[in-house]
Amino acid sequence: QRDHIELIASENYTYAAVREAQGSILTNKYAEGLPGKRYYAGCEFVDEAENLARNRALQLFVGSEHVNVQPHSGASANIAAFTAAMSPGDSFVAMSLDQGGHLSHGASVNISGKWFKPTFYGVRAGDGLVDWDAVQRAVDEAKPKVVIAGASAYPRSLDFEKFAAIAHAAGAKLMVDMAHISGVVAAGLHPSPFPHADYVTTTTHKTLRGPRGGMIFARADEAAAIDKAVFPGNQGGPLMHVIAAKAVAYKLALQPEFRAYMQRTLNNAKALAAALAARGFGVITGGTDNHLILCDVTPLGVTGKEATAALEAVGVTINKNSIPGETRSPMVTSGVRYGTPAATTRGMGLAEMEQIAQWSVEAIAAREDAAKLEQIRREVVKV
Ligand code: PLP
Repeated sequence: QRDHIELIASENYTYAAVREAQGSILTNKYAEGLPGKRYYAGCEFVDEAENLARNRALQLFVGSEHVNVQPHSGASANIAAFTAAMSPGDSFVAMSLDQGGHLSHGASVNISGKWFKPTFYGVRAGDGLVDWDAVQRAVDEAKPKVVIAGASAYPRSLDFEKFAAIAHAAGAKLMVDMAHISGVVAAGLHPSPFPHADYVTTTTHKTLRGPRGGMIFARADEAAAIDKAVFPGNQGGPLMHVIAAKAVAYKLALQPEFRAYMQRTLNNAKALAAALAARGFGVITGGTDNHLILCDVTPLGVTGKEATAALEAVGVTINKNSIPGETRSPMVTSGVRYGTPAATTRGMGLAEMEQIAQWSVEAIAAREDAAKLEQIRREVVKV
């Protein structure tokens, strides 16, 4: 982690204080149930930790009404929200995986796609933006119980108000999966899903910079259904050491320094997008509103797989990614995804973004020249 530059959009370096809580003796405690209503005795101190996490989460996301901080991960949060809102066989609408969605939004290999019936929308091939006609068409066709807004590889702001209008007009609930952007939302730098969404799921370890985990927000009238869906619906004992670490992370995210960090993360993403575009990368949508950049690398004469391997050889970690209108398999792809949360946590700024873009084109051009790759790698290690 020290020797590479970490640019995977879903990763971050969490705080030492979070690692301390996450590695604490709270891991020893069983605490099925909720604070004050546990199935086990001896929960006095873990109750305190969970109440801190819940209260701080509600404070952090203005307009939220109820939260459950027990989901073990983002995918666990999603399946709990699904089972609260739907029965097996029910229909929902989501962005497809190859257009930027997440596999827990109905991929055929995932339980969400095996137990429920997804109908997908995507982005417009021309500009890479949400295809609102496709959203409306999917809703009209599927008559879904749930519409999902949220993605893993979408570089622009999502219009939650518009998603809510389409979902609610069709009698469906709106579920926002803000896993990637929860830190950006918390900092007030992305439009909030509150009060538009009926359920909001998230991970806690991406832009939010907390421990690896998940959480679900719901309207007050859905509180009992969500809590029941998490436990006993989908999970047993909550991870109390992780919940304590969530409480620490949310406290830190409430500080002005977090907003400043998030602003730097977005400034870095914009700068990196511009620097990559200037060097021939096909930046999808022409830029970014958030922490991630999606690029077509075929103008550079490589696939996503080849570009990722070239950068890995010099110590710059990104991931290959499908792009709108993709013609290659997910294991090869025509694109790559960059993200700036981790590099920004490490203190990198605009000058480093320019340097990273330069190393990227140099590494791709030198992908078959081991000596040149090694020379670049030695420069990368110094940063
Ligand atoms: N939802 C979205 C939008 C994601 O991008 C991810 C992970 O990348 C998840 C859910 C799943 O989170 P986890 O890996 O914690 O299960």
